Amino acid sequence: MSRDASKNLSRLYVPRDNLSRGESFALSDGQHHYLRNVMRAEAGTQLRLFNGRNGEWLAEVSEMSKKNALVTVLEKLREQHAAEDIWVLASPVKKEAFDFMIEKSAELGAARFFPILCDRTIVNRINLERLQATANDAAEQCERLDTMEVSDLGDLENLFESWSPSRKLIFCMERGDAPMLGAALAKLAPDTPLALLVGPEGGFTDAEMAFITRQPFAIPVSLGTRILKAETAVVAALAAMQAIGRG
Ligand code: SAH
Repeated sequence: MSRDASKNLSRLYVPRDNLSRGESFALSDGQHHYLRNVMRAEAGTQLRLFNGRNGEWLAEVSEMSKKNALVTVLEKLREQHAAEDIWVLASPVKKEAFDFMIEKSAELGAARFFPILCDRTIVNRINLERLQATANDAAEQCERLDTMEVSDLGDLENLFESWSPSRKLIFCMERGDAPMLGAALAKLAPDTPLALLVGPEGGFTDAEMAFITRQPFAIPVSLGTRILKAETAVVAALAAMQAIGRG
């Protein structure tokens, strides 16, 4: 079956180590509920599955009951390919805005998302499970072959301790005279691993900015003269990366 012919089939992310022809397994409760009650799927209904490792597969519901949904893997639709190596590091913001940030980061191809506790972070708890589910939903919808992995809340000091210096930290600075993001990206090799860093609503403190810019892998950039909301900054920066073939 071609990608076009299968485009209307439900597409589900299954966190399994392996997907291959003939395999049969039960879907999660949430996916069972979605297929049965929202999509009205029944035995024989076809769908698409991906696990982030083995490409995308055509599958069918082999058993549907009140209790669970069993699916059987039929044929491979798309081969897995290497994803863009882009991370997003951003302070949690209010719920709707942060959900938006997670969803758009997943759609725009980020591989990992690190919620970062900053001095001016006002939301200092996250619901990791819910955020990962939001990322998975976005991955299913946008047809990427993997999902964006959301990490637990952390801080920059810890992350920087084990930072690989080859990964450039694209540090979004709303004030000052950092070069434009486009100009900064143009100086990097096209396969440079990247991490985008965006601060909280109140911005980074002077001490944080000094600490970040001291890191040898940090590249301060500007996204233009207007001060953007954090969630806008994430989307704008990822879209700019996408426009040059990243993401
Ligand atoms: N309240 C702060 C603005 C914070 S904006 C102030 O008035 O100074 C939230 C985050 O979005 C910032 O920490 C920065 O990382 C990013 N950001 C917003 N606008 C930006 C711009 N024009 N260029 C680069 N980064 C920007």
